[in-house]
Amino acid sequence: MTHLFDICGMPAFLEPWIARFYTPLEIDLLTALERGAMTPSDIIGTLGGEITDGLIDRAWRRGVVRRLEDGRIAPANFHVRFESWALFEGWQDLPEEIKNRLNRWELDHYEAGHREAVESLKAGGQRRASEVCPEYLLLEEVARLFDRIPHFYLWPCNCRAMVRGCRLPRLTCIRFSNDRGIGWEISRERALSIVREANRQGLMQSAELGVDSQGRFDGALCNCCNDCCFPHQLARERQAEKIWPLSRYLAELASEPCNGCGRCVRRCPFGAISQEKKKKGLPPSTPVIDTALCRGCGLCATGCPQEAIGMRKIRESVLEAYYA
Ligand code: SF4
Ligand code: SF4
Repeated sequence: MTHLFDICGMPAFLEPWIARFYTPLEIDLLTALERGAMTPSDIIGTLGGEITDGLIDRAWRRGVVRRLEDGRIAPANFHVRFESWALFEGWQDLPEEIKNRLNRWELDHYEAGHREAVESLKAGGQRRASEVCPEYLLLEEVARLFDRIPHFYLWPCNCRAMVRGCRLPRLTCIRFSNDRGIGWEISRERALSIVREANRQGLMQSAELGVDSQGRFDGALCNCCNDCCFPHQLARERQAEKIWPLSRYLAELASEPCNGCGRCVRRCPFGAISQEKKKKGLPPSTPVIDTALCRGCGLCATGCPQEAIGMRKIRESVLEAYYA
């Protein structure tokens, strides 16, 4: 097992569970690639037997190996394998302690990859359009963004598949490119209706978005909860609330049309809205929004039956120019 740690970075504590992640033939394949990338025909020539182009292709889709630009095959990092496994194969009988360690390992990796960007934003730095960073989008902004996206691919949400911390819908991730061809290509209208339904069910819209030198979008539109989402977990750990994902709005409540139904209180994922307990014989009170806690996700506004909540812009994003 130790050699698999060296080849693909699989954490050592998974040693007793290796069969959950790799078939015996995939382990042979990874072992053959230990000395360096190989062409598919070299792999078949070296290993022979049951190793075929089909098996190599399947291993690529499962996140076991990756394809280099020159066509050679190399081991994929275990983070890719873990994501694919959590999305499409499930946790089965892994003990809770192992699940928690694996998710901690994944969060540490996510944190390490974004620590510098988060700290820079916290210190007042500006994000660059080319960096893929998460930021909250209102529903109308999602519609404008989608006008600029040529292809939409539906994937399960990797955060909820890995963490399983809530019961909110999982088949909600709208990616703009189709890694390994394993998402379902859908129309713009279908993508938008999935996002609207996710919002209705209480998921926030956060774009993981960057733009390349030719103005092409890279990333995904995530429909996030506050329990499982890796960016929100990172925000808690690094005190980066309102920074990661980036907040650009504050909710404002007008008391006039509000009927005191309390729906906004229940929809806010961050406990930013409070309402006095109803007193017998009196009408329900108007809720109060704590702007220090509000992240501008807009869930309260989309859920308000009286349209009593408006979203006030507090910050521009460099990405707005691309979907304004
Ligand atoms: S959801 Fe709208 S109407 Fe209901 S309490 Fe909140 S602001 Fe008032
Ligand atoms: S109060 Fe702020 S954080 Fe809470 S649901 Fe409304 S916009 Fe989102």
